[in-house]
Amino acid sequence: MPVPPTAPALRAVAARAAEAGLFLDFDGTLSEIVLDPGEARAARGASSVLARLARSWRSVVVVSGRSAADLARRVRAPGVRLLGLHGVEEIRDGEVRVLPRAEAARAAVERAAARLERDLAGVRGAHLERKGLALAVHFRRARDPEEAERIAGSAVVAAAAAEGLAVVSGRMILEVRAREGGDKGDALRRIAREEGLRAILVAGDDVGDLPAFRAAGELEACCRVAVASDESPAELTGEADLVVGSPADLVALLRRLARGT
Ligand SMILES: [Mg+2]
Repeated sequence: MPVPPTAPALRAVAARAAEAGLFLDFDGTLSEIVLDPGEARAARGASSVLARLARSWRSVVVVSGRSAADLARRVRAPGVRLLGLHGVEEIRDGEVRVLPRAEAARAAVERAAARLERDLAGVRGAHLERKGLALAVHFRRARDPEEAERIAGSAVVAAAAAEGLAVVSGRMILEVRAREGGDKGDALRRIAREEGLRAILVAGDDVGDLPAFRAAGELEACCRVAVASDESPAELTGEADLVVGSPADLVALLRRLARGT
């Protein structure tokens, strides 16, 4: 899907790159969704164009529901900030730092995971992933992902409620995490404050990116890019300034930004 060359929101942000940020999701945005999340790779050329943009834009951030350590194995771009667990973690110089207030949820998440390990044992195709301060239940490998999610959903909601945690749904995934301060909107506001950003380009493919789309609107200029797929939530494409057809198309757009065209 070609990018409209005159997209005004894109031009407004690119024109002030020196005080602007890029805030990009990983799975489905910089990488194609694959059956096994462990096999996901950044689209060709993504890491190198991000490193290049980090030299001219004020801040380049990749933010993911993955742990920061996992993300660091998939994006190798000097100068790019890597945030995990929707912004609760950041990896710097090989060391994972956690927002101090987020640490309080670790024991509750572990108890919820232990309960789900038991409760989901009989649900075929539901895969529990422990991520420390969050957990995820994946359904993509189920024969019927919708059915598996329907069966597992009430157990996930019950385990989260028992521990005072939130359930957030995404593309064939349910995540359990702390109720407060753990979404990409909070992360975007924090980065904007820290880096003194006045403009931002946000890109995402899923409902978890909506809080970032909304927080981006609080800056002086923003461009919200939805990476479309058969699974795209209508809400996300509806709130986007630009829609691209794939992670490869997003990388092409980033290359244009890097060239200044
Ligand atoms: Mg995504």
